[in-house]
Amino acid sequence: MIGEFIVFRKSYFSMEKKDRSKGELLKIIEELKLENSTLKLLLQNQEKESKDTEQALRLSEERYRLLADLSPEMIYLVDEFGCILYVNSAAAGTLNLSAPNVIGKHLTDVFSNEIAQSHLAAIKHVFVTKQKIKNEILEKFPLKEMWIEVSLSPLFNEKGETIAVLGLSNDITVRKATEEKLRKLSQAVEQSPVSIVITDTNGNIEYVNPKFTEITGYSFEEALGKNPRILKTDTRKSEEYKQLWQTIFAGKIWSGEFYNKKKNGDYYWENATIAPILNEKNEITHFLAIKEDITQKKVVEQDLQESKEFLKETQNIARLGTYSLDIATGMWTSSSILDEIFGIDSNFNKTLQGWWSLIHPEWQGIISGYFINKVIGTQAKFDKEYKIVRNNDKAVRWVHGIGRLKMDDNGLPIYLIGTVRDITERKEVERDLLKAKERAEESDHLKSAFLANMSHEIRTPMNGILGFAELLKEPNLTGEDQQEYIRIIEKSGARMLNIINDIIDISKIEAGLMKVNMNESNINSQVDYIYTFFKPEVERKGMKLIMRNSLPDSEVLIVTDREKLFAILTNLVKNAIKYSEKGTIEFGYRKKDEYLEFYVKDKGIGIKKEKLTAIFERFVQVDYSDLKARQGAGLGLAITKSYVEMLGGKIWVESEIGVGSTFYFTIPIKKSEDKCITGYDMAVTNQMSQIGNLKILIADDDDVSEMLISQMIRSLGREIIKVTSGDEAVAACRNNSDIDLVLMDIQLPILNGYEATRQIRQFNKDVAIIAQTAYALAGDRENAIEAGCNDYITKPINRDELQS
Ligand code: ADP
Repeated sequence: MIGEFIVFRKSYFSMEKKDRSKGELLKIIEELKLENSTLKLLLQNQEKESKDTEQALRLSEERYRLLADLSPEMIYLVDEFGCILYVNSAAAGTLNLSAPNVIGKHLTDVFSNEIAQSHLAAIKHVFVTKQKIKNEILEKFPLKEMWIEVSLSPLFNEKGETIAVLGLSNDITVRKATEEKLRKLSQAVEQSPVSIVITDTNGNIEYVNPKFTEITGYSFEEALGKNPRILKTDTRKSEEYKQLWQTIFAGKIWSGEFYNKKKNGDYYWENATIAPILNEKNEITHFLAIKEDITQKKVVEQDLQESKEFLKETQNIARLGTYSLDIATGMWTSSSILDEIFGIDSNFNKTLQGWWSLIHPEWQGIISGYFINKVIGTQAKFDKEYKIVRNNDKAVRWVHGIGRLKMDDNGLPIYLIGTVRDITERKEVERDLLKAKERAEESDHLKSAFLANMSHEIRTPMNGILGFAELLKEPNLTGEDQQEYIRIIEKSGARMLNIINDIIDISKIEAGLMKVNMNESNINSQVDYIYTFFKPEVERKGMKLIMRNSLPDSEVLIVTDREKLFAILTNLVKNAIKYSEKGTIEFGYRKKDEYLEFYVKDKGIGIKKEKLTAIFERFVQVDYSDLKARQGAGLGLAITKSYVEMLGGKIWVESEIGVGSTFYFTIPIKKSEDKCITGYDMAVTNQMSQIGNLKILIADDDDVSEMLISQMIRSLGREIIKVTSGDEAVAACRNNSDIDLVLMDIQLPILNGYEATRQIRQFNKDVAIIAQTAYALAGDRENAIEAGCNDYITKPINRDELQS
């Protein structure tokens, strides 16, 4: 009977759920040919059989059922076919049903077919093997998906047959999630690219990850139980370690860098973060250190730092300022060198307006046009030299700016970055060079003009000398003609000598060889001398020379270079005579503050306004095409100006065409400490008294010169001795101790004039020795004086000069 019933249940439950109806049930009963009475009997019989035991079991079953119902674990009983015999509340709850609604149902009634089939397979397995199985499965329950741990155990009857399967299921979703998290975490730690160390609170290592091993060379086993001090070097102070421990023991995180040592002794840098690990009671149980090897980064950083310093240093040396201008905002940043160039500090408003305010007003328009059209418009390089006005001292400086635009991915400009250099000095040199070039060109031009002029200036008197010398040979000349020709030859000679003197003087000035010889001098006597000297010449031209001395002798004893002052006045008076045909020529001086201001005034042709400065340049002559050409090489005023400046004064001219010119110059009034009259003036005074009564020795090997001198000094001496060599001169002096004056040529045979003078001075200190030379070059005078001469005179010898 039971067997038939089992067959019935099998057929019934093997049907699709939807097909299980009462009709079907009856159909099965029909098919099994079970009579209703038999079925009833069967059931009644079964009921009766179990009634006793049921009774006995009821109580204990009730208790278990209650306990099972209270259990949070899902408990259920399933028979071999998957028919649910019992579920507790927890199990029914997961299906969102109540227990009575589940009991008696087939697994396929409450689960999806797929899940039901897998349960059935497991139940079958337990039935067959009679073995307990345990599984973890992810199951989709009506309310939620959850991980459950399922254990299926076979239940046996007294005969040891499996009659049902007891299922116990636990929701392990949370555990599973935790496990998953842990799995991921441990994988992350194991595979971490940074080293991870966990120590206990004594600092003993409990865990290191593989990266730690890779970096330090210590294996997990070697590191275990050790203190991280195994990596320590002595670069960090113990004070810092103390601070580290204090921080982490206070429950805070410490971060910093270590310079550590590997197992093999190599050093490395690491960046470490150490944090305490707390338990639920907030107590520190461990420390976690996460450390990154930054050796490479450090090397790069160091390289970067070095190259930054190098760049800064080179920029410093090159005085190169750098800037970066943000095109969108107009804000810019700059290096300290740039700030220095522009004279700005950190408070300066680094905006476009600020930048603009630094550009010289003359350049603002040019730079803004250039920037907008060229740099922004065509994205060309910014490359310009322009002027700025320095912010701090308002000094105008030249700078050279070079910059380039930085574009974004869309090709739009974002920055202008570049350099600025102060090129003021270069610009000044350029300007000076340009001036020098212009001057050189002008000087070249002037020299050509000078040569042409010189050729004329030399040829003309030469023509006079040679021509009239030729004419002098004429036998039938009257005495008057002879005198006239001789006068012309003299004049021409003097004119040539003038030119030669000028050329020599300007060469000396240019070569820097012109020395200033300061002595106390009486200005009045100089002015008097000039007056006496030029008066006849002026009067010969039908004009009048007027001299004005404004100070008494006692006040005009000043220290100056007498010869230069004489040359200055001579030049100016000579010019006044040369460039005037009528009226008066007036000259003199007056006191102005610390200076004597001299003037030479004429009523001559005057000078064009535009030439008033140029005439003081070398070789410059005012070109008066409508006037008769006048003699001169255009050097006189250049020499005069140099002399005035050497004496510490200034020269200038006021003039009007057709009205006349007044030349002014100043010399400083320098008084000598020693008030007595010395030098030249005194010597002149002494000698003047002896003139006509002198015993004179002439040492000259040139017959013409000797003859000339002899003739010139005839009136000065009572006796004249002539020798033609240096040694003869020495001997003559030795033999004639009463010689008053020696006129010593320098270029003498056997002993030259200097040497002869030196020897004479050894035995005669009193005799006056005057050197005479045709060189007239720098140093001659000094050499002569140094050899022991009293004075020096150049050939051709001028009678008046010699006498004086
Ligand atoms: P120069 O040998 O030609 O006189 P200077 O250097 O003495 O050379 O003078 C330069 C030029 O200045 C002269 O050529 C002349 O044109 C002008 N000058 C100088 N002095 C006078 C003056 N007193 N009146 C008019 N022009 C003068």
